[in-house]
Amino acid sequence: MAIHFSPPDIREEDIGAVVDVLRSGWITSGPVVRQFEKALAAYVGVEHVVALNSCTAALEMALRLLKIGPGDQVIVPAYTYSASASVVTHVGAELVLVDTQPMCFAPSIDQILEAVTENTKAIVVVDLGGVPYDATELRRRLDERACDEETGPRPAVIVDGAHSLGARRHGIAAGGLGDYTAFSFHAVKNLTTAEGGALTWRSDLPGDSAARAAEVRRLSLHGQTKDALAKSEAGAWEYDIVEPAYKANMPDILAALGVSQLRRYPEMLERRRELVRLYRRHLDPSISMLDHFGDDFESSAHLLLVDLGEASARRERIVAALARAGISTNVHYKPLPRLTAYKRMGFDIGQYPNADRQYARVLSLPLHTHLTDEDVETVASALNRVVAAAVAEDGVE
Ligand SMILES: *Cc1c(COP(=O)(O)O)cnc(C)c1O
Repeated sequence: MAIHFSPPDIREEDIGAVVDVLRSGWITSGPVVRQFEKALAAYVGVEHVVALNSCTAALEMALRLLKIGPGDQVIVPAYTYSASASVVTHVGAELVLVDTQPMCFAPSIDQILEAVTENTKAIVVVDLGGVPYDATELRRRLDERACDEETGPRPAVIVDGAHSLGARRHGIAAGGLGDYTAFSFHAVKNLTTAEGGALTWRSDLPGDSAARAAEVRRLSLHGQTKDALAKSEAGAWEYDIVEPAYKANMPDILAALGVSQLRRYPEMLERRRELVRLYRRHLDPSISMLDHFGDDFESSAHLLLVDLGEASARRERIVAALARAGISTNVHYKPLPRLTAYKRMGFDIGQYPNADRQYARVLSLPLHTHLTDEDVETVASALNRVVAAAVAEDGVE
């Protein structure tokens, strides 16, 4: 039987929730989006969340809200998916990529601080695999530096939380760690609305939270003073456009999926964490895994990343052997400087040796709520076997 990589967890209750909206007479952004936003804010422990059509849009709305554009620099890790960085180009700012720490999937705070200049307006950090970046410590160090060097306002810390809904660090849930956090509800993510995302910000971020939510909604809906539902009230057609803005709202049909999934998300998260522990038990001790649990953090267990170690040079053979056994795998991520678009911008992979080393060794195993305990055992023992065979073959050559 095939073991898929990350199929969505869709149950009858999700289907029922979507059908209810389809029958309701209002299918785009309306009361169900508001319900999803309120439920998410309560779950994350923040004042406001704005649901959008993707995490990419949420990241871009954060940059636009901060009025970041030409002449500004934004720092992004080289080891991430393109969306964390492409939004910097969308707003016309300069992208600055930083390498990861040796043997790590993320840059250290020192590596980030070394890249900060007087033009740095924001830093994007990525909660890779669901492990929340220590964005509170990054903010503290930036505050300290701004104070010591009298540099004026520090850069904003924007978290790409595409993987980390439900993760915690220092007892704070992902969403409350950075200044802004963007979540993804894309089909392969822990909680899905097929396509979707959300922007939130820590509750103690200076400024009025409700006004900020209204501004994000306006930015994501043409800069229009009224949404479609308000305009559809009898006699309420009048509206204004205050700026030629963007179109990135989430429809009620998709929000219904979100509301329904969020109800059982705590159990889904618990199961994912259990699967991670099972993998650790069944994988050979020589195969190291991304750490999902630490003294001060607990991840959302989004990706099961393993380090192929000595067998890395034979990754393609390993992927093919697992595929023959019906097991789907993936690679997260090819560092951005290895991709054509970023090469064309002038990035050179030679400057990101740590990220490139991680990429050469990494493999992502199936991790999702349809997996049984036996599936994990099957995947782990297949990997143990093909890795051992790859290492033995190398020894012969
Ligand atoms: C999925 C993903 C995104 C993009 O999410 P969308 O909702 O598809 O825009 C951004 N960053 C990372 C790290 C992702 O994995």
